[in-house]
Formats: sequence, structure tokens, C-alpha cells
Amino acid sequence: MDCLFCKIMNGEIPSKKVYEDENTYAFYDIAPMAPIHVLIIPKKHVESADALSGDDLVLVQQLIFAAQKVARQLGIEKSGYRLVFNNGKDAGQTVFHMHMHLLGGDALADFGTRK
Ligand code: 5GP
Ligand code: ZN
Repeated sequence: MDCLFCKIMNGEIPSKKVYEDENTYAFYDIAPMAPIHVLIIPKKHVESADALSGDDLVLVQQLIFAAQKVARQLGIEKSGYRLVFNNGKDAGQTVFHMHMHLLGGDALADFGTRK
């Protein structure tokens, strides 16, 4: 399948891996928006959070589990971190393999301010 994040997960395209388990793969974002910016993806290809239904909803649980592991591994579980899904055009989703952004490492800008 011609999907950037499937290729990253398979090692066809290099990435800086942070964490991996049976269901998920986590790697540093190439254009970080915070001191720590990690992308966590399900190994199963699904387009977006909005495309999830039925059995695929378990993927979200797996991503949160992986996020907890990543935060502990990077030592930010106490200082805090933000988890974000961009879903579709208005949210700025550019890669249509569902991914969760994990942002932290410093106080983040207020969330939800209007542009
Ligand atoms: P989106 O805007 O779809 O929510 O997030 C896609 C993210 O993927 C962006 O933050 C972008 O910087 C990141 N990204 C795009 N291409 C690559 C790549 O080839 N490698 C890595 N590590 N991150 C990428
Ligand atoms: Zn994919």
C-alpha cells in the first residue's frame, strides 16, 4: 500500500523509533512542534479516527497504552503531555494513516485558541 506511515512502520522509510509493541509503532516527528513530539501509529492501516468503527476502536486503547509507555520512557509522565488526533482537512491532517501526536517537554501553548 502506498502509505507513508505504513512504509515507516515497515522500515522502508527510516525513522527514529521511540517505542514499538505488537500493535503500535512510535517515532519522532520530522518537524517537531514541541521539545518532545512523537507520533504513535497503529500497525493496522486505518485512515483516521473518524473512520474507526466496531473492532477497530480498540486501536485507540492501544495507542493510549503506547503513549503512557512513551511518556514514562521519556520521563514526562509527571510534567505532562498532550495527545492529539488531527482528523480531516480542517484539522490539518496530512497523512491518512491514523496517528496520535504526543507533545510535551515544556509548557505548551494554550489549546483551542482561534486563529
Ligand atoms: P498530521 O498533520 O497528519 O496530523 O501529522 C502528520 C505529521 O507527520 C506531521 O507532524 C509531520 O511533521 C509528520 N511527518 C510527515 N512526514 C514525515 C516523515 O517522513 N517522517 C516523520 N518522522 N514524520 C513525518
Ligand atoms: Zn498506512
